[in-house]
Amino acid sequence: MHWHRIKWLSHLLVCAAVGIGLVADAAASSPPVSETASIPSAPIPSETAFDALFKRLDMGDLSELDTPRQLKILVQLQQLLPPGDAHRLRLLDSQRCGLGFVNAVKEGFAFADTKLAEALQAKDTAAAIRFYYCRSGYQSSLSTSRDALGDINHGIDLARESNDEAMLALGLELRGGVYSYLGIHGKALADLLEAQRIFTQNELSEAAGQTLQEIGIAYRRLGYPDKAREYLDQSIEHEQRVGDHESLFSSTLQLGFVDDESGHYATALVTQQHALELATATGDHQNTGSANLAIASVLVDLKRYPEAQAALQSAEADFAVAGDASNVGMIAYERGRALAGLGQHHQALDEFNHAETAFDASGNQRYQERLHQAKAQSLEASGQPVPALAEYKRYLDLHEQVTRQRVDQQAQMLREQFDTDRSNMENTRLKTEQTLKDRQVEALQVVRRWQQTAMGLLAILLGLLALLVIRQLVKVRSWKRMASIDSLTGVANRRGVEHFTGAAMRHARAQHEPLAVLALDIDRFKNINDSFGHAAGDRVLQHIAHACQEALRDGDLLGRTGGEEFLAVLPRSTIDDAAEVAERLRKRVEALAPEDLPPGLRTTISIGVAQMSAQDSGFADLERRADEALYQAKAEGRNRVVGANTNQELGTAIGTAATTGSGLAS
Ligand code: GH3
Ligand code: MG
Ligand code: MG
Repeated sequence: MHWHRIKWLSHLLVCAAVGIGLVADAAASSPPVSETASIPSAPIPSETAFDALFKRLDMGDLSELDTPRQLKILVQLQQLLPPGDAHRLRLLDSQRCGLGFVNAVKEGFAFADTKLAEALQAKDTAAAIRFYYCRSGYQSSLSTSRDALGDINHGIDLARESNDEAMLALGLELRGGVYSYLGIHGKALADLLEAQRIFTQNELSEAAGQTLQEIGIAYRRLGYPDKAREYLDQSIEHEQRVGDHESLFSSTLQLGFVDDESGHYATALVTQQHALELATATGDHQNTGSANLAIASVLVDLKRYPEAQAALQSAEADFAVAGDASNVGMIAYERGRALAGLGQHHQALDEFNHAETAFDASGNQRYQERLHQAKAQSLEASGQPVPALAEYKRYLDLHEQVTRQRVDQQAQMLREQFDTDRSNMENTRLKTEQTLKDRQVEALQVVRRWQQTAMGLLAILLGLLALLVIRQLVKVRSWKRMASIDSLTGVANRRGVEHFTGAAMRHARAQHEPLAVLALDIDRFKNINDSFGHAAGDRVLQHIAHACQEALRDGDLLGRTGGEEFLAVLPRSTIDDAAEVAERLRKRVEALAPEDLPPGLRTTISIGVAQMSAQDSGFADLERRADEALYQAKAEGRNRVVGANTNQELGTAIGTAATTGSGLAS
C-alpha cells in the first residue's frame, strides 16, 4: 500500500520506541481487505474512468487494499491512461513510486527523485506533492525519519498553496507520524488531529480511519488515557469494518497498554489476550512476541508471577523466531520484576542490570525511570540501603525529567492546536471576507450593467426623439414652404409674394433704397388653352415662370399672383432698372420655343412696372400701380412694358416696342 508503506515506516519506528516491535510487512503479510471494494474490468482509455479509479486508489476505498491488489489496480490505471496525457501519467507514476519498489529502497528513492524533478519542471503540483511524500518515505528508510521532514514539509506547502485539502491532510498525517517517532508527541498530535479534521471534513473516511490509531497512540504517550482509549476504540471499529487485521492487532495492543498504564490490570489482561489471538491470526512472530510480552507485564502487575514468567518465555521464543533483538531489555526488566515479586531479589537485580544495559543503549528515559525504581526496591529488600538510595535518587531525577517533558509536550500540543485553530479561524474569516467582497463586486457589476442598459435605452429614446423632432421640423418647414409656393410653377404664390414684398419694402424704406415691382400677364392666354388644351397651357405657365426666374437676380423674387399673372419684386431697383429687367423678360418669353410644346405655339407677355413711392401705404398700393401700368400695356397692344406714374410707355421709350398681336404665330 502506497501511503500505508510510508505510514508503516513511522509505525515501525514509533513501536520500537516503546520497546514493542511491530512489523507490518505491507507487501507480504497484509491480509486481503475491503471485500466491498469492487475493481472495474475491461477498461477503455478515458479521462473520467482514469480519474475515478485513481481517486479510489489515491485516497479512497482502494487505498486500504494490500500491495498485490493495488499493483493490479495500477495495471488497470495504465490501460485507462489516455494516450499522450503527461499529467495523468505522472499521477500513475506517483502510485508506482509507493507500490513498485518493495525491498528496493534505493531504487524507489531514485525513481521518486527523478519523477519529482520532472513534475516540478512541468509545474504539475498534484504530482509533485505525491512525489515529495513518496521520496520522504524512502528517505526515512535510507537515513532517518528526521531527514524525511524536509520533503514532507515541501509537500505540505505545495498542498496548502494549491488548496489540495486531501494532500495537505496526508502530509500532516505523515509529519505527525515522524514527530511521533521522534518523541515530539505534542506536535505529532497537533498534526494528526488536524489531518483527521481535514479528512473527515472532506469525507475521506478511509484516510480518516487510518489516522485514528496514530492519534490514540500519541494521546497515550502524552498522558491522556481517556482520549487515547476513545481514539483507539474508534480505530478498532474502523479496522474491524474494513478487515485490516494487522492494524487491528496493534490498536488492540495499544488499548491494552492504556488499560495497564491506568491501573486497570484485569481489563488490560483481557485486552492483551485478545491482542495475542489477533497476533496469532496474522502469523507474525514479532506480533505474538509483542503480545506475550504485554501479557507478562500485566501479569506481573497482577502479582501472577509464575504465569508472567511463562509468558515471557513464550515472548522470548517468538522474538527469537522473528530474529528480533530489540526487546531483550524489556524482557529482562519484566523478568526482574517477576523475580522481585517472588522475593528473589538477587536474581532480579541481575535481570535489572541486563535491562539497564539495553535501556541505556536505546536511551528510553521512561523505561530507565521504571527500572531505577524497581532496582531500588530490590536493592533495599536485599539489604543494600546505600546503593538503593542512589537508585532512588536516579529514579526521582528521571521521574522529574520525564514528568517535565510530558508537561512540556502537553503544553506544546495545546500551543500547536491553538495556533492551528487560530489560523483556521483566520482562514475562515479571510474566506468569508473574500466571499463577501466577491458578492459586493458582483452586485456592483449587476447595478452597472443595469445602469448601462438604462443609459443605452435612454440614448436610443433620445435618438428616436431627436429623429422625431427633426422629421417634424422638416415637415413643418416643408409645410411652410408648400404654403407659400405655387405647386404648378414652383415659384412663390400670392401669399409668398405678399410676405416677401412686405418685408422687402420695410427693409428698403429703412435703408432708403429703391424697390420696384413688375406685374406680368400672359397675352391672350385663353387662346392658347382653347387651341392647344389646358395641359399645354399649364406647361406654358411653367416655361414662362422658369424663363423669368432665370432672368432675374438672386435677390429678386418671382411669384404667381393669379391664373396667368406673375409679379416680380426687385429690391434696390429704380423704375428704370426694373424696366430694363422687364424688357429682358419680355424678350425671353417672346423667344421661347420649348420642344415639349406644340410647334407654332408662341406666346408673349405684357409687363407693368412700378417703383415704390413714399405714398405707398403697403404692398397693395404698389401692386395696384403696377397693374395699372400692365393694363395700359395691354391696352396699347400687348407684348410690351409700361411704367407706372409717368404713364410713359417704357418699351417705346427705350426703343424696344414689340409688335402687338396675339401669342399665336399665325
Ligand atoms: P389678355 O390677357 O391678353 O387680355 O387675354 P387673355 O386671354 O390672357 O385674357 P384673360 O386674362 O381674361 O384670360 C385668362 C385665361 O387664363 C383664362 C383662363 O382660361 C386661363 N387660365 C387661368 N389660369 C390658368 C391655368 O392655371 N392654366 C391654364 N391652362 N389656363 C389658365
Ligand atoms: Mg389675365
Ligand atoms: Mg392674359
